[in-house]
Amino acid sequence: MSAPSDTQRMEKIVSLCKRRGFVFQSSEIYGGLNGAWDYGPLGVELKRNLKNYWWQMTVHERDDVVGMDGSILTHPAVLRASGHVEGFSDPMIDCRTCKAHLRADQLVEKKGVKQCPNCGEKDLTAPRQFNLMFETHVGAATDESSIAYLRPETAQSIFVQFKNILEVSRKKLPFGIAQVGKAFRNEINPRNFTFRSREFEQMELEYFCRPEQGMELLEYWKEERLKFYENIGIPRSKLHVLTVPDEERAFYSKGTYDIEYDFPFGRQELEGVAYRTDYDLSQHQKATGKSLEYFDEETKQRFVPHVVEPSAGVDRTVLALICEAYSEDQAPDEKGKMETRVVLSFHPRMAPIKCGIFPLLKNNPQLVAKAKEVVALLRPHMTVFYDESGAIGRRYRRQDEIGTPFGITVDFETLGEKDPALRDTVTLRDRDSMKQERVAIKDLPAIFRERLA
Ligand code: ATP
Repeated sequence: MSAPSDTQRMEKIVSLCKRRGFVFQSSEIYGGLNGAWDYGPLGVELKRNLKNYWWQMTVHERDDVVGMDGSILTHPAVLRASGHVEGFSDPMIDCRTCKAHLRADQLVEKKGVKQCPNCGEKDLTAPRQFNLMFETHVGAATDESSIAYLRPETAQSIFVQFKNILEVSRKKLPFGIAQVGKAFRNEINPRNFTFRSREFEQMELEYFCRPEQGMELLEYWKEERLKFYENIGIPRSKLHVLTVPDEERAFYSKGTYDIEYDFPFGRQELEGVAYRTDYDLSQHQKATGKSLEYFDEETKQRFVPHVVEPSAGVDRTVLALICEAYSEDQAPDEKGKMETRVVLSFHPRMAPIKCGIFPLLKNNPQLVAKAKEVVALLRPHMTVFYDESGAIGRRYRRQDEIGTPFGITVDFETLGEKDPALRDTVTLRDRDSMKQERVAIKDLPAIFRERLA
């Protein structure tokens, strides 16, 4: 059963994303481009932290995976061989009354009769297949011969470069090729904020193996990916593994899991982990007449490798991180009166800014100079934000709202005015517990190294 949707919570999240510069509607001042989003100063940091951590875990920390970065413009023959030109489509239905274009699975059914979810009318067209790929033309001509596609997934360039990468990396099976990059799908109804967009990013791994290893590696990668989500702050209790039933799986797949998350708008897919057999490589081999076989030195066997694919959405995971982190609690204001505090409790690893640095008073040159020294000390190691305006409690709140896990305040004790033993110490505040500790400035880099690891 899916989790109940929480429209109000989602509205607050969308509004915070805009107000604090995580996500903006694309081309907003022109009225917006449906299904496209721009990430602002904080959103881009969050997104980079996610992609970098995925890359670190998937490529850098493993001996058996290498990376690549393929082109977005794709030769039509690639996507004909993969089946996308023929079959990458959704059934679409139009409502003749309100003119809405709908995906067939969005219709509502009352007493066995299908109706439009927008206006409730029943005057609907028959379903027709709508190809989700964006077509463009390469070069000056705009005829059949110049058609190219914006890739609908990053995976195909991995399959097409399989032989080159195998040769240059000299890897032995099992091994993987990873890629992070943009993909484009002309979704009939983009919706749920960034969840279903027409332009989005994927983090995909194609892990090649022997046929007999496929099912076991499918289980292995499902578990690895669940651990990944836990490592970025999404608890296991909010993640659900759906075994995609035989009739819904791609015909070539021997097993597929969807990893789902409880978004405020319901339980929805974050990532697919699929055992795609040797389908893709075999298709490209057939279409090109070039061998994409692997030669096993030990057994002297030659065969087309099988592949297990964990395919995650960057934007969907960013949205899950924000939804998971959003909370409201009660905290005292400057005068001790309780007020509602909005907090994004990002895992420190994901937080766009790691530490806010504040001089207690902005009109005290010594406090300001010391605070700027702390900024200079920490900036090479992490993202910091210097803020001297407003009451200190307000400054903490502003950082809580964007998920900054730590706050440093430089006060008169830092200057050694009250107790010489406290000279060059600062208060270090924790976003979640709001507890403060007194630490020496010189110890800060080591403290953060440990807490941000
Ligand atoms: P859905 O069923 O939600 O359309 P899918 O099963 O077609 O997704 P895949 O083709 O398996 O998706 O793509 C892998 C991942 O890419 C998805 O799990 C998702 O995280 C991301 N993704 C796919 N389509 C979109 C989209 N329109 N907007 C944002 N992310 C997407």
